[in-house]
Amino acid sequence: MSETVSTTSPTSAAGGGGPAEVVAAARRAFDAGVTKPRHWRETQLRALRALLVDHEQELADALHADLGKSATEAWVTETGFVVREIDHTLRHLRSWTSPRRVRVPLSLAPGRAKVVREPLGVVLVIAPWNYPVQLCLAPLVGALAAGNAVVLKPSEVAPVTSGVMARLLSRHLDRSAVHVVEGGVPETTELLAQRFDHIFYTGNGAVGRIVLEAAARHLTPVTLELGGKSPAYVADDADLEVTAQRLVWGKFTNAGQTCVAPDYVIASRPTLEALKPLLVAAIADSFGPDPSTSSAYGRIVSSRHLDRLTALIDPTRVVTGGRSDAATRYLEPTIVEVAPVAGEGGPVDAVMGEEIFGPVLPLVAVDGIDSAIDFITARDKPLALYVFTGSEAVQRRFMRDTSSGALAVNVPLAHLAVPDLPFGGVGASGMGAYHGERSVELFSHAKSVFALPTRPDTTVWVRPPFSAAKEQVI
Ligand code: NAD
Repeated sequence: MSETVSTTSPTSAAGGGGPAEVVAAARRAFDAGVTKPRHWRETQLRALRALLVDHEQELADALHADLGKSATEAWVTETGFVVREIDHTLRHLRSWTSPRRVRVPLSLAPGRAKVVREPLGVVLVIAPWNYPVQLCLAPLVGALAAGNAVVLKPSEVAPVTSGVMARLLSRHLDRSAVHVVEGGVPETTELLAQRFDHIFYTGNGAVGRIVLEAAARHLTPVTLELGGKSPAYVADDADLEVTAQRLVWGKFTNAGQTCVAPDYVIASRPTLEALKPLLVAAIADSFGPDPSTSSAYGRIVSSRHLDRLTALIDPTRVVTGGRSDAATRYLEPTIVEVAPVAGEGGPVDAVMGEEIFGPVLPLVAVDGIDSAIDFITARDKPLALYVFTGSEAVQRRFMRDTSSGALAVNVPLAHLAVPDLPFGGVGASGMGAYHGERSVELFSHAKSVFALPTRPDTTVWVRPPFSAAKEQVI
């Protein structure tokens, strides 16, 4: 598999054409009112569900070709994940999208006020390669549920999955309102020159800035789902055996290429020493003595990313792992120790300089909870922060003294699967959030509607001419 830009011509439900034509077609569908009826939204969501269930194997094969994902992982974290999001959305669509009455102050009686959720128009979803199905289609669920036309731009770095999704979506969903543009930087750049009513981008912060700048030209609102280094603090009182197993699961799922994977473990020296053999044992438990032969262990998406990751590993600091194979884009589950924290600047190891986004887990030793919090808050606000502890006081400290997209106690990744929890970052890890009702809110405008009967004409009290009697009433 190559990560070079796929130059396949953009596929569109509207029968081809470049990005500009695709967006124009989507806008025609929206302007014609195609996407607004609740019946249409439900039909599209059901069609998407059927696509995912009927073509589970085809999608799993594509995910295996791009990322070496096992069929089980593909269902749990990708196709099945979106199916659960659809089911939850269909269950609540009526209540989430129905107008909501709000109270009117006595002075404005007998007026009636309500909030009406209106679709935004044409939404652009730009997706990354690491969960190429979930991160393309979960935003699509929200955008359709809110009644929008949608243009999807899957990642060219997972080209097999991109191709399968483009083909299936144009076959199963309304071809006038749901469009897929395949391709890389040139196609995305051309798309970003168009006017959208919302842009939903998932990926790295450098491209996030490009998206934000492009959107500013049209005053288009943007959601940025970015990444960063998500820390896992292990307190001295933590249940280390279960902590090790859950850390290994959270870190090495999808070979570490997960935006909310624990990026590094931070703990006191004695706790790290006790945790180390348990982590090594948990890796063996999960993937056997040779993870390269385990069907549960994925591959690095491209040679470029494999080279980047191997360059982050200092062989003198490896606790376990470190071996790689360029031909199969394999990188062993790896644990490294980073240099002791030196002063305010923190460790200088390359592995602590950027989001790892691969199967390398650094262990950072600190004096205790205060140093850990200082270490974390001195850096960009993470997408997720994990705290392993049985202590309510430790949890409260992190809740109060740190900021992150999410805070999860004793388990990584799982908060994503709680449909009523907003999923998104803060600061450098992103802006905006989605999943469940938050998606419908994100992809719609809360329109204020107020109506006052003409008779009796109560505005007489606030209109000139003013009098002493009126002033008493006001
Ligand atoms: P990527 O390389 O697939 O890029 C993401 C999208 O941006 C692709 O569709 C790509 O075509 C487009 N793109 C790339 N360069 C562009 C350019 N110059 N102009 C316009 N568009 C361009 O994915 P990635 O960025 O490598 O993804 C990994 C990053 O995404 C990590 O930082 C990870 O943490 C983050 N991420 C965040 C979430 C989240 O939900 N918050 C989820 C997954 C990944």
